[in-house]
Amino acid sequence: MPDQPTGGVPIELRKVTKSYPGVDEPAVHELDLNIPAGEIVVLLGPSGCGKTTTMRMINRLIEPTSGDIVIGGENSRDIDPDRLRRHIGYVIQQAGLFPHMTVAANIGQVPKMLGWDKARVAERVDELLTLVGLEPELYRDTYPRRLSGGQQQRVGVARALAADPPVLLMDEPFGALDPISRERMQDELLSLQEELAKTIVFVTHDVDEALKIGDHIAIMQRPGHIEQYATPAEILTNPASDYVEQFLGGGSSMRLLRLTKVGDIETDQVPYTTEDADARELLAEVESDGRGYALVLDGMRRPLRWVGQAELEGLSGPVGTAGDPVTGFISARMTLQDALESLLNADTEVVPVVGRRRAYTGSLSLTTVQNAIAAIKTHERERRQRRGEGTR
Ligand code: ADP
Ligand code: MG
Repeated sequence: MPDQPTGGVPIELRKVTKSYPGVDEPAVHELDLNIPAGEIVVLLGPSGCGKTTTMRMINRLIEPTSGDIVIGGENSRDIDPDRLRRHIGYVIQQAGLFPHMTVAANIGQVPKMLGWDKARVAERVDELLTLVGLEPELYRDTYPRRLSGGQQQRVGVARALAADPPVLLMDEPFGALDPISRERMQDELLSLQEELAKTIVFVTHDVDEALKIGDHIAIMQRPGHIEQYATPAEILTNPASDYVEQFLGGGSSMRLLRLTKVGDIETDQVPYTTEDADARELLAEVESDGRGYALVLDGMRRPLRWVGQAELEGLSGPVGTAGDPVTGFISARMTLQDALESLLNADTEVVPVVGRRRAYTGSLSLTTVQNAIAAIKTHERERRQRRGEGTR
């Protein structure tokens, strides 16, 4: 495990078991898990399935009964527990801040312990507050009780990141927040992760949170084992067992819509042109396309008007201002779910998709979205078959 600031390191759990004395069922049973460097891996499962125990064995707050945990190539047994925990940030529900310490003192605790000088600690605290979206001047000298739940959780994340650890363990970190703060914290964690590329183990019992946050998800079942370890799309399209299916609880197509961005699917290609183009040439194109309409773009490729075949038939010379103004757009960054909402409320059956600077990239209709979801399902099924895992 490097002592230098870093992105993530891989973590490997090999046949890890935790049994408590006097308890028949092990809390965690021969668990194998490969966590790639720089990924968010979610442990998802009902209460009591061993998520917290698994997580706390990684930073040795709990010692495994048997098995090995290898972090960045080193067996965790061979790492001094204090050194280990300085390399692993830990975020828990309700932040776990010290109430009698200021926000700055809470965040600076580990750097101070590491012997950083005061100025460097203060600088780091301000940097971290900014990183998690809290203005340093307003918050560094405040006490935790004066903060909202979301703000406390931000401070918790800042504190976990203080010594720039390669690994972050987050145990139901947003579980106590209201739905809106929770969504916002999830979004912020994802954009933070784009920048930091830590290895994050994230525990939740919320299916939608797992699907949104996880690069990979380990679905756990009592007593302490993994039923399926796969990407969100794989889990939705190919649940490995009845247990996984029941735990997901249906709605897999809707969830795929939420998971997929418009920019990731194949959009419709309708004929398009600019105002100065020849109307007869466009008419020929529209006739051979068969849909009966085309899109007129401005010089920056921004959609202006829809023009129909009948209207084009009456034109000679340039297309000009013929047609009806485009009233709605769909951004390539939207989820398919939001795109669907736009399509259902649109004046036209087909809506243009725009990317950067509102430039046209394709079109979308309800059928296109439906086909895209079907294509994702087929694709995942085929990928699984190629890997020889078969389908159920
Ligand atoms: P989760 O985080 O998924 O809710 P835990 O890892 O906390 O699950 O617990 C897994 C199982 O281990 C549960 O059955 C729980 O009762 C048991 N357990 C956890 N801690 C202890 C302990 N200190 N002594 C005995 N049993 C425990
Ligand atoms: Mg737990």
